[in-house]
Amino acid sequence: MNSQSQKVLVLGGGIAGLTAAWELSRQNISVELVEKSCFLGGHSIGFTCKATDRCQQCGACSVEEMLKNVVNEPLINVHLKTELKGLNKADSSYKITLQKSDIDLPVAQITQRANGKAAKGFSKHNNPLYVTESDKNNMGSQCEVDVDALIVATGYSPFDPNRKSTYGYGKWANVITGLDLENIIRENGALVRPSDGQKPAKVAFIQCVGSRDERLGNLWCSEVCCPYAMRMAGSVKHDNPDAQITMFYIDIQNTAKEFPVFYEKIKQNIRFVRTIPVDIYPLENNCLELRHMAEDEGAPSSESFDLVVLSVGIMPGKDTGKISEITAIPINQDGFFDSTSSDLGCFVAGTAKGPGSIATTMADAGKTAFEAMRYLGVMK
Ligand code: SF4
Ligand code: SF4
Repeated sequence: MNSQSQKVLVLGGGIAGLTAAWELSRQNISVELVEKSCFLGGHSIGFTCKATDRCQQCGACSVEEMLKNVVNEPLINVHLKTELKGLNKADSSYKITLQKSDIDLPVAQITQRANGKAAKGFSKHNNPLYVTESDKNNMGSQCEVDVDALIVATGYSPFDPNRKSTYGYGKWANVITGLDLENIIRENGALVRPSDGQKPAKVAFIQCVGSRDERLGNLWCSEVCCPYAMRMAGSVKHDNPDAQITMFYIDIQNTAKEFPVFYEKIKQNIRFVRTIPVDIYPLENNCLELRHMAEDEGAPSSESFDLVVLSVGIMPGKDTGKISEITAIPINQDGFFDSTSSDLGCFVAGTAKGPGSIATTMADAGKTAFEAMRYLGVMK
């Protein structure tokens, strides 16, 4: 069989799925790219550029570049608002049943254009090329595709900050997540407080929200939230030089080679306090009081801020259990997919296996596509 007649189904249209699909198409392999939501790019297409006086290597622009590659590639057939319904292995191929979503999915990460038809994405340039109109006609309809291999790239779910009730997310307007902060900056062109649209003078970042937390049963480090929050804090400080920014943390995680230099530089502008606040209380003017144990004395302490940003952790994707049942890919004790490769032609890529940055996710997805090609005999 030549590679042009081979076909792979990639489940998930985030950065892992986009990268895997693109790498497969580079070798002339056809791809059915299946995405549950109504847009491609996953969580990371909502990330803003964090450049200060220089690029901070956040990777956000790579997502957009990959997105453009994929939507312009004729070998990649995109199915939006579509889910995996069933799978049958027959000899060396898979018969896969797909279903158009029968619910009108929330479009939290897209905004409607004035004409109410086409939606545009949260990408840097707001290009609408990867978003479709809401298509109610085909809701619930099923189709079958025959493919030679499957790559599951269904990504992660951000920790739900409502589960950390002592922080008052959803209750106090100025307690937000990192993704909320991205959206505020994108929509307003600047950092403003949700409560009154004013520039905050004091901003706190709280690390490890939902990660490394025994009471929640989430013992893992999410790996990406330290460098992510530091880039975000650095970018905010660059754009708002008068703002005082404090980061509350347990310890700083990052294994990237260039990270120690970056950390030393950012410490010149951001205050780091090694303790995690226990709770947050509202004050006058929608300010917030953070209560914590003082770093050195171990005594109770508190401080007020205008805005608090929660660095929420990475959790297994919401559909992991359902997809595991259909595909028989095992799940590990933390709830992520356990498989890295398969001699049956069923592979897992990216953060569906555990936390990862944009760069590591793209590298892993490329490696997984390579493994799939080796399984198909396209690569040695
Ligand atoms: S999006 Fe990130 S990687 Fe791209 S230019 Fe901006 S800071 Fe650099
Ligand atoms: S990366 Fe940092 S903030 Fe995230 S869980 Fe690990 S230590 Fe906590």
